[in-house]
Parts: sequence; structure tokens; C-alpha cells
Amino acid sequence: GCPVNVRIPEFVAKVAEGKFEEAYEIITSTNSLPAISGRVCPQENQCEGKCVRGIKGESVSIGRLERFCADYHMKHSDAKAVKPQSNGKKVAVVGAGPSGLTCAGDLAKKGYEVTVFEAFHTAGGVLVYGIPEFRLPKAIVKKEVENLQDLGVEVKTNMVIGRVLSVDELFEMGYKAIFIGTGVWRPNTLHIKGESLGNVHYAINYLQNPDVYHLGSRVIVIGAGNAAMDVARTAIRHGTRHLECFSLSKTISASEYEASYAKLEGVNFIFNKKPVEITDKGVVFIDLNEAEDGTLTELPGTEKLYPADSVIVSISQGPCTTITDSTKDLKTTPRGLFETDEVGRTSIPGIFASGDAVKGARTVVEAVAYSKNVAEAMHEYMQTLPPDLPDAYANVPVAEYDEGN
Ligand code: SF4
Repeated sequence: GCPVNVRIPEFVAKVAEGKFEEAYEIITSTNSLPAISGRVCPQENQCEGKCVRGIKGESVSIGRLERFCADYHMKHSDAKAVKPQSNGKKVAVVGAGPSGLTCAGDLAKKGYEVTVFEAFHTAGGVLVYGIPEFRLPKAIVKKEVENLQDLGVEVKTNMVIGRVLSVDELFEMGYKAIFIGTGVWRPNTLHIKGESLGNVHYAINYLQNPDVYHLGSRVIVIGAGNAAMDVARTAIRHGTRHLECFSLSKTISASEYEASYAKLEGVNFIFNKKPVEITDKGVVFIDLNEAEDGTLTELPGTEKLYPADSVIVSISQGPCTTITDSTKDLKTTPRGLFETDEVGRTSIPGIFASGDAVKGARTVVEAVAYSKNVAEAMHEYMQTLPPDLPDAYANVPVAEYDEGN
């Protein structure tokens, strides 16, 4: 059930023996971000969903154990990663989210000189700007980024590739291959009247900096996925007193774990409602009938206004087009995602893509798993490139300044 093939029975056995560092070694042999995955993986659908103890009772808390081992290691070990010997080949990674960080780490360990270009002012992508502090402390992400920097990875923030520098310019600067892991940051919209009102916001924007929003005391969240739970719980922490989460279907699509915390914190769920218009007083919803097979049908005449001070739309995101707009011949799918083969090769040789920018919004550890394969394919690709021509000026004498002049 684990997308990155953590050797679960082995590491759990080491934990049981009290050999936490050995457990950590086992985990990190396949999973480069255990402190993060231990916190944000939807374990009930992944590792813990396959645990045989879960059939008759409760599964082993694999995620919690993983998180413990990673935290134990961070607290007790001051061993720093050692920068491997350089092979002289430069690689550009666009986007410092889970995909980009995974690829950067894997290639740096193989001796590549990796530069990560990040559009925001802090590295971490969705780990920093999409997952709230109470689920994933930013200090943990910072530590993971520092580990990569110890390996020699250079991180350049506030660099929007496609605007500040183009992909072609990266090649001209000597990067042999480019990895694109830019994620999905453009909110999907409802396409209903009133969506552009000032009291309507989008989950991915709100989560980036919730401190600057004044949502008021009653908030409606449209959507019931994991991001909606993050939004709802964040809003409550920022002073919202009444929070209603509306779902089209009769179920909550967020993981049971996230939904249970949202309920504990006071989120009220309302099912089988479809928004038809937003006003400055709230949202008009129409009732839906849900058939056995999940088909939803509107029930005419059931429209009602549900009052709210603010509305947050949380119905997933699509990719931004900054790179594709500025790069000729880079093919995308009709949804705007990068078109790649199974190992991340795009339509342009030397450019690879991975993570949500290819697959659409998925879990963090799925992005990690896929990006590991892509990093391997990039390594193979770079083996096939002809050696660089020697630098014509590599051995010129170094001039001395006349300090007294
Ligand atoms: Fe479970 Fe995620 Fe750890 Fe895999 S990486 S064992 S899915 S918590």
C-alpha cells in the first residue's frame, strides 16, 4: 500500500526493538521525506489500508511510527549529509515542492550539480503553501530543504521560470536536463453567478497566507476533500465560529482521519447540495438526488440561500501555464498537464516533468514515488549525452590586481 515501497514490517520490527535509528535507515532507503510523509500521507488509503490487523480491528499506526522515527533522528542525530563528488553536469529543477525536492536529492546524490528554481520566496511548494502549519510544521520542511543543501543542491527562490528565465535560457546556461515539478496552483472554478464577488476565495490561495483574510464568523466551504478540511480547520483557528462544508455527494471525499478532526473541531457537513449562485449574503444551493450508482440529479424547486460572510471554493486545482506558454513545442494534455511518457520524458528532449503537473492533484508521496523514477530516467538520459567540449579558457593565467593603484 505504500507508493514508495517503505519496507514496513522491517522498520516496525526495529521500532519494537527500540532500534529507532536502524528503523530510520530502513525507511529512508526508499523514502526521502519520512517526517513529511509520516504526517501528510492518507495512510488509511495507503499503508494502513493494507494492514491485516485492520481487517478485524485497528491497523498498526504505520504513519505515526514513521513520523516518530524521523523526528527521533532529527532530534538525536547531528550527522550532516556529505556532498558527493561532482560529475560536472548541471541540472535545473523547476519547482521546490515534493516532486522537485525528491528529484533534486536523488540527482545530487549521483553527483549532479542541481539548481532548484522556486517561484515563491520559500522552498517547499505545497508542503509550505498548501498544507497548514498544524498538519505539517514549516520547520520540518525547512530541515528537509537544508538536508538537500548539505548535499550541494542550490535553491534559488523568487524565480519564475517562463518569466524571469525561459527554459531555452536554462539550456543556454549549461543545464543538461530540466525537471519540471511545478504542481497545480490554478484553482478550479464553479462557473456560477457571483463567483467574482469579494467574499469568495479559493482554497489554494487562502492556504498560502490565511493571516491576511478576514472571513467573518460564518463561512461556507464548497467541497469536501482534504484541502477543504485544511481550509475549514484553518478558518476555525482564525476565528470563524460557524463553518459549513458542502458536498455534492452523500459522502466526504477527504480521508476519514482528516474528516474526523474537522468534525471534532466543529465543522458541520451538509450533503447532496449543488451551488447555483453566490450572493453577498451567502450561497444558493439546490438539492441533489443521489442514485445507487452515484448519479446526481437536481431537484427543481429546492433552492435555498445558506447565509455566510465568506465562501471558500475548494474543488481542486489545475496547472499554471507560465512554462507552456513560453516554451514552443512543449506538449500538454487538454487539461493543461504536461504530456509525458511513463518516465517523465516530455515532447522536448532533455525536459522531464513529474508530480501533480503531470498527474493532476495527487498525494505528496505519490509525487515522490513518481519523481524518483523520473530522476532515474534523467540520469540515464544524461549518460547518453556527448562529453562537454573543454572550456577554452580553463587554463588561462589568473591576473593580479595592483592594490596600490
Ligand atoms: Fe505509509 Fe506514507 Fe510511510 Fe508509505 S510513506 S509507509 S504510505 S506513511
